[in-house]
Amino acid sequence: MSESEIPEGSKDIRCIVCPTGCLVHVENVNGELIIEGHSCKRGEVYGREEFIAPKRILTTTIRVKNGFLPLIPVRSDIPIPKEKLQDTLREIAMTEVKPPIKMGDVLIEKVIGLDVNIIASRDLIEA
Ligand code: SF4
Repeated sequence: MSESEIPEGSKDIRCIVCPTGCLVHVENVNGELIIEGHSCKRGEVYGREEFIAPKRILTTTIRVKNGFLPLIPVRSDIPIPKEKLQDTLREIAMTEVKPPIKMGDVLIEKVIGLDVNIIASRDLIEA
């Protein structure tokens, strides 16, 4: 990523990579990222990614046709850029799936064209 894409300002970010939960301070100083407060390299990487391009695992539900339950819990198989979450939720809201479904089944492949799949978080049988 070029320096021009680094956001301005600073952020205090709680590292969630391990239970220690260090508070990582990330600051853009004249286009250079200054990262402090981390106790290890993983925290530095996490702070940098959260500051520049935050991502999240998306968890939600998809409607099920003729299922034992009307909805099935799902999640993205890898984290999704935060700015893509709304579009992803929109596509998921327009989707309906049919049982039987096994936990881990891919229910939406390459959601909104990303290299991300939406997968089932549980098994679901027919009604
Ligand atoms: S910086 Fe390292 S030690 Fe601190 S919470 Fe993150 S992973 Fe854990």
